[in-house]
Amino acid sequence: MKRCIIPIFIPHYGCSRQCVFCNQHKITGNTEPVKPEKLAETINRYLMTVSRETTFVEVAFYGGSFTALPADTQCSFLRPAYEALSTGKIDAIRLSTRPDCIDPDTVARLRQYQVATVELGVQSLDDAVLQTANRGHTARDAIRAVELVKQAGFTCGVQLMPGLPKENWHKLIKTTELAVKCRPDFIRLYPTVVLAGTALADMYQQGEFRPLSLDEAVKRCAYMKLLCERNHIPVIRTGLQASRELEDSAVTVAGPYHPAFGELVDSHIYYLVVAHALEQIGLPPASRLNPVIIHFHPQEESKMRGMKNNNLLRWQREYGVVCKLRGDLDHKGSVVIEFNSTKFVGNKSMLFSV
Ligand code: SF4
Repeated sequence: MKRCIIPIFIPHYGCSRQCVFCNQHKITGNTEPVKPEKLAETINRYLMTVSRETTFVEVAFYGGSFTALPADTQCSFLRPAYEALSTGKIDAIRLSTRPDCIDPDTVARLRQYQVATVELGVQSLDDAVLQTANRGHTARDAIRAVELVKQAGFTCGVQLMPGLPKENWHKLIKTTELAVKCRPDFIRLYPTVVLAGTALADMYQQGEFRPLSLDEAVKRCAYMKLLCERNHIPVIRTGLQASRELEDSAVTVAGPYHPAFGELVDSHIYYLVVAHALEQIGLPPASRLNPVIIHFHPQEESKMRGMKNNNLLRWQREYGVVCKLRGDLDHKGSVVIEFNSTKFVGNKSMLFSV
């Protein structure tokens, strides 16, 4: 089944404060906001482009703090979406919001309109990081919100932003562990980039904030993704959605933006899996003469190679071996390392037993 998201952009609607990193207009490429009275028309326009038999269609409210809007405004947005849902035109409704704008009344309203998924912009679970980002809520508020959303039976998503001011590896690990403990249904990782027109851009210009390098952001996101997946929580997105606007240095002032950020993270994870396996094998000095054969699922070849063969080059440089790739396994996520007729199985979960 294909998926079609009908995006309903509500830029900064309901936001009581301006988070230092946020500029929804830049992130979304100045997508036109949709007014409630135009919602039914927007839904119908999208529906003309999809085959309902083969497509799961979801209306998604994003770009603001949906549940911080006045109750009647929320209803004016939800009503047309609910009508489309109850007549079978669409399959689900989802929205994103702030963790401190979830309470029992809100939950009841969202249930009344049969919202399926609530995504919470948690960003960090460290109070100093949240305060510096001008979030206006604590880690405890976020944890409570996840509990409330899950107890009410919604699918619960959590968005995290590695690389915010005052974050370090220790805080990132703590945030990831706490997020995993909350058991959301999925997580999205958005490494912090410095967008024009934000307080973070001012902090950056004044030398008060240094964003993560691309390399460091990839490493941190790889760690987070591994920990989430090890705990059976899928990471459904890593990195901002690529767009022409974000490619523009007048928009993305600094930071680890890359149009294929998720691919870089997955490649780094494969680098780690194979590197770990090579260390376990303990290659003899003469290994330079014999290639190591890496078997994997054929659909994972580009991630295994790394961008511009980066993984192959690193294994050669760091372990003194020439690696040959064979996409001949029938399951994803594992590798078999073959050296001098001996085979060693490697996978992501082994990285945590180092
Ligand atoms: S991050 Fe969310 S709450 Fe903060 S300004 Fe942006 S849309 Fe509003």
